[in-house]
Amino acid sequence: MEIPVPSARLYLKPEHDRPVRRHHPWIFSGALGRLEGPVEDGGLVEVFAFEGEWLARGYLNRRSQILVRLLTWDPQEAIDASFWRQRLERAARARQALRLEERTTAYRLVFAESDGLPGLIIDRYNDFLVLQSLTMGIERWKPFLVRLLQELFQPRGIYERSDVDVREKEGLPPRCGLLTGEAPPDRLVISEHGLRFYVDLRRGHKTGFYLDQRENRHRAAAYLNGAEEVLNAFSYTGAFAVYALAAGARQVVNVDTSGEALQLALENARLNGFDPGRVENVEGDAFQVLRRFVAAGRRFDAVILDPPKFAYAQAHLNRAARGYKDINLQALRLIRPGGLLITFSCSGLVSPELFQKIVFAAAEDAGREVQILEKLSQGPDHPIRLSFPESEYLKGLICRVW
Ligand code: SAH
Repeated sequence: MEIPVPSARLYLKPEHDRPVRRHHPWIFSGALGRLEGPVEDGGLVEVFAFEGEWLARGYLNRRSQILVRLLTWDPQEAIDASFWRQRLERAARARQALRLEERTTAYRLVFAESDGLPGLIIDRYNDFLVLQSLTMGIERWKPFLVRLLQELFQPRGIYERSDVDVREKEGLPPRCGLLTGEAPPDRLVISEHGLRFYVDLRRGHKTGFYLDQRENRHRAAAYLNGAEEVLNAFSYTGAFAVYALAAGARQVVNVDTSGEALQLALENARLNGFDPGRVENVEGDAFQVLRRFVAAGRRFDAVILDPPKFAYAQAHLNRAARGYKDINLQALRLIRPGGLLITFSCSGLVSPELFQKIVFAAAEDAGREVQILEKLSQGPDHPIRLSFPESEYLKGLICRVW
């Protein structure tokens, strides 16, 4: 492939160089002083401070609020074939060092900005790779990246799941489909901590499975031995429920708005040899279902709350906080004294400190004493890059409720 030579030069406004110098990988459109030379959206630019000092190199998209995503701060490092190869190899080496394959056949191989590859997500599911391209810059390199992934990892097939809303902000339509090799089966069976799960790579959420919760499912299970009844709200395909059953919980109730996900939750229980009679599925809005359970006097030994992202923008933060508080309040009302609340937030805008305060506020309203036993985060295949605090998004608390 022809390697584009960056010729465009982007000069920042005065005093807008600090985040770039600190290796934050985004330049917002408001920081643009002037742009010199021709560059198409998705093409490469050299970034300079207002005074003219070279700072970094990245790719640009005028249609996005995030004007540039930075790729390197090393003037000697060209963005060419060997750059992408080295970054992919580095991400793969880091995953190997985690020895993930001892506990799972599915994990995140590349986590975008956190792995120095802005806009690119690659998940491995057994012998298949799923690629998510989030930006115009990655879109332009995609055909090349697919060949490189094929060469480096020899997957049976590479499937694209670029059906995410953020692409709209880049001026890109959603796109799904086979990129190369063999098409993945309708349902793949992955294994995680000795348990097995059906994953639909074509139509499942995200790239098929919530890989970021792997270690948390394992941690949660450590507390569920002997639980009579466990409520798994926002269950998706019942991954936490299967862990709970394996840990020795007698009965699990899954709640989700997706009937399809619940169907798979039942099949996942069966796939692991559990009597499906131990699983009760409730299709509906968890906010309402939990209220109904409270009113009906139902009680649980443990409640798991793993809602979808509530906060997409700073402007929604208050509403999101109210949502988290409400669902945690209902959950607390359902927990027997001495029982567990296992609660998560995957909204990056809600900090771990804020989340803890929200759970505290819910505990106050519920009139319950709550102890934190463990604080949880995203799995190590979703690393948090210090220079990119936005990459820290998942937080959870395992609590004892009195
Ligand atoms: N714990 C799961 C992942 C949960 S993802 C796992 O480990 O795999 C969040 C889930 O919440 C999705 O399945 C989505 O369908 C569901 N959901 C979204 N809004 C909901 C609502 N108001 N009530 C119930 N479920 C909801």
